[in-house]
Amino acid sequence: MVKILAIANQKGGVGKTTTGINLAASLVEAGKRVLLVDLDPQGNTTMGSGVDKRHLQHTIYHVLLGERPIADVRVAVSPGKYDLVPANQDLAGAEVEMVHLAQRETRLKAALLTLKEEYDFIFMDCPPALNLLTLNGLCAAQAVMIPMQCEYFALEGLSDLVNTIKRVRVNFNPTLKIEGLLRTMFDPRNVLAKQVSDQLQQHFGSKVYRTVIPRNIRLAEAPGFGAPALFHDRLSKGAQAYLALAQEVMSSTA
Ligand code: ATP
Ligand code: MG
Repeated sequence: MVKILAIANQKGGVGKTTTGINLAASLVEAGKRVLLVDLDPQGNTTMGSGVDKRHLQHTIYHVLLGERPIADVRVAVSPGKYDLVPANQDLAGAEVEMVHLAQRETRLKAALLTLKEEYDFIFMDCPPALNLLTLNGLCAAQAVMIPMQCEYFALEGLSDLVNTIKRVRVNFNPTLKIEGLLRTMFDPRNVLAKQVSDQLQQHFGSKVYRTVIPRNIRLAEAPGFGAPALFHDRLSKGAQAYLALAQEVMSSTA
């Protein structure tokens, strides 16, 4: 059975996109069939997967507007070997244009239903906002993966996201779960990071992934090569952490 996860946190720059790209590639290495959907007009997932967002005829925008079937828009990426539904700046207009369309919150869900037999995992990389695009991600998802940095305001931001998830449950997607909280860009020498991490474990217990993603320069460099870190420096701590996360994700969904 396919597992459909939204990677979401309305806070910017917490590692959503890095997680999408590297987890997708790591799961492919483990033999899984993976689709990654870029839901962010920034198109970082698209570029970081080695697809030039400036030269795309069709993107997720056309899927959400009902102009193209999702199967026609997806591309197979290399070297990551997962499938990608790309995005670019066009998507910024989608929110306004979708306002008048029927079922505007569940358009992505409807599109993904046509593909679900083809994949073991579908990830949606949400933008840093609780907007209609993220809402489409949350409505299409079975569960939410929340990357976060262990810093002072992180827990506050988390409660906003948890409240949004509760509202989505009431209005659209009653079975939406929190899949897990992922500590990203972690620096074990930072005392505050350690304290926030401890608090997170107290509040969320087993929802916090055991795997911690360290701050690692290779993870930041890899998008410049249009590749997951695995193909940039396989032995780097960052690439190894995402390989470990893939194992943890597989064991928790087995
Ligand atoms: P946005 O909210 O803008 O979509 P995001 O949550 O998707 O951001 P990323 O784009 O994945 O976050 O990461 C933000 C920046 O931090 C990027 O430059 C990325 O390369 C870098 N980065 C992400 N994870 C790590 C890490 N573990 N170590 C070092 N740098 C990282
Ligand atoms: Mg991003």
